[in-house]
Amino acid sequence: MNEFSIIKKFFDKHSLNDNEIVAGIGDDAALIAPPTGYELAFTTDTLVENIHFHANTDVYDIGYKSLAVNLSDLAAMGATPKWILLALTIPTNDVPWLEKFSAGIFDLAAKYSVKLIGGDLTRGPLTITIQAIGIVPTGLALRRSHAKPGDNIYVTGTLGDSAFSNYTLLPTPQVDTGIKLRGIASSAIDISDGLAADLQHILDASHVGAKVVVDHLPLSKELAHLDKQTAINFALNGGDDYQLCFTVPADKIHKLTMENITQIGVITADPHLSLIHQSGSKYHGTVHGFQHF
Ligand code: ADP
Ligand code: MG
Repeated sequence: MNEFSIIKKFFDKHSLNDNEIVAGIGDDAALIAPPTGYELAFTTDTLVENIHFHANTDVYDIGYKSLAVNLSDLAAMGATPKWILLALTIPTNDVPWLEKFSAGIFDLAAKYSVKLIGGDLTRGPLTITIQAIGIVPTGLALRRSHAKPGDNIYVTGTLGDSAFSNYTLLPTPQVDTGIKLRGIASSAIDISDGLAADLQHILDASHVGAKVVVDHLPLSKELAHLDKQTAINFALNGGDDYQLCFTVPADKIHKLTMENITQIGVITADPHLSLIHQSGSKYHGTVHGFQHF
């Protein structure tokens, strides 16, 4: 198969009967007519073989995860995901590979009515870049920079599972929660590098600190079976969680309706991340996050 037949067979779904898409795949650039009253949220993430996934990872999972990590970023902005672009570099035109890969992307895209509107296809070492575009009502995007002392800190789901299982789990991007947090959360971030590292980004951007009770970190059954120190270490430093961490001021807490959230601490004026036990004693474990460089 040549470049254009690959695009046509695996990526051009002709299901773009969406009046916001003026031109999709097939022209030099896609054209979007954004709805009025909304801001556009743009994000991009790259997955590189042997860095973000092992060479033996299930191909469907690679496709799924390459979209999931981008939708997670949009979720953290409180944006509704709408459109994606796919820049794909593959070593060979392996048809079974392309079938599984595109199924992984399109299955997840369908859950959120996300449309693939363009991209690029090149030969080389396996590298997948997706750009995702979302919409959020003007002024309601969730930022990292607006946390205030006294705000409660929450996370969705459970933490540390991906790092503990040492396997690329298929993350559920927290899109629905992100959208519900519009007008409620004062700040938000998605947890990709580990809770401690990602919460620190909120603290830096907002010029505040936090007190986090490590015994309150939500753990799955699997992690809860480990010894306490090991489990907390996974939850704080694990990475690849794709849950949300967000802050809510006291006068908005009654508006939180979702069930999959856990309060883990509070924002403080003192600009340090302080990790404590329920008893008030200091947590002595290490804190680090994943960094490429
Ligand atoms: P150009 O050479 O003008 O940059 P291409 O030949 O790379 O365009 O792509 C032709 C069309 O196919 C464009 O609309 C482009 O967005 C789309 N496209 C290319 N690769 C992909 C892909 N992997 N997934 C979806 N659309 C793609
Ligand atoms: Mg062109």
